[in-house]
Amino acid sequence: MKKIIVANWKMQLSYQASLKLAHDFVKKISGAKGVKNEVIICPDYLSLPAIAPILKPSRLKLGAQDSGPAERGAYTGEVSPADLKAVGAKYVIIGHSERRDHLHENSAIIKAKIVAALKNKLVPILCVGEKLTEKENGETIKFINEQLRHALRGIKIKSAADLIIAYEPVWAISSNKNAKPLAAGEADKIQALIKARVARLLKKSVAVLYGGSVNAVNAADFLRQKNIDGLLVGGVSLKIAEFKKICQL
Ligand code: PEP
Repeated sequence: MKKIIVANWKMQLSYQASLKLAHDFVKKISGAKGVKNEVIICPDYLSLPAIAPILKPSRLKLGAQDSGPAERGAYTGEVSPADLKAVGAKYVIIGHSERRDHLHENSAIIKAKIVAALKNKLVPILCVGEKLTEKENGETIKFINEQLRHALRGIKIKSAADLIIAYEPVWAISSNKNAKPLAAGEADKIQALIKARVARLLKKSVAVLYGGSVNAVNAADFLRQKNIDGLLVGGVSLKIAEFKKICQL
């Protein structure tokens, strides 16, 4: 089965640099030999409408890094999922740990964003994952189950392809101090439990990605695990040669 590889460019690039990287992705990754995985590029909001026509003739898909909790209304500073859809996005990352932590997004906001995204036919990529404290207290599964319950209870999807989960242990994300990836076998075990939990909540078996310090060396190990349907890649998605290798696995 095709794996899903998501590039999260965060707020790392200038507008011009984002457009240049998008052109380079099309030139060097889209048609490259051996790229059979589904590759989704998530640039920042501002460059997204300019990147849509760059990706359009290629097989690369477009996603946003977030979207607003409603389609229209008095939400100063927010971006409507309807407009993301209109400019060509198909996917949207929701509940990334950087938004949960730095911007204090709570479960009610995350749920509203999922509902609004689904209503506008965007595929949410819901991020869940424990922090170091929960891991050290042996509360990883309990914590993730709570995140899933708050985000997904009452949500209805028509098909398994309508939603994706990304399991990202927060302590493993490269921007965190002393980050290192979770062992692939460990990630697989946790993701099996996530799959079962989500199947109970949604009555559908959705894809579950792993994210956190993925690189061209460790990616194959993750991708060969039964319960890892793809990868969410931050830092390395800005390094085209290394990211290309991941897309070719
Ligand atoms: C992320 O921020 O979602 C992420 C996975 O980052 P990195 O690959 O840099 O750890």
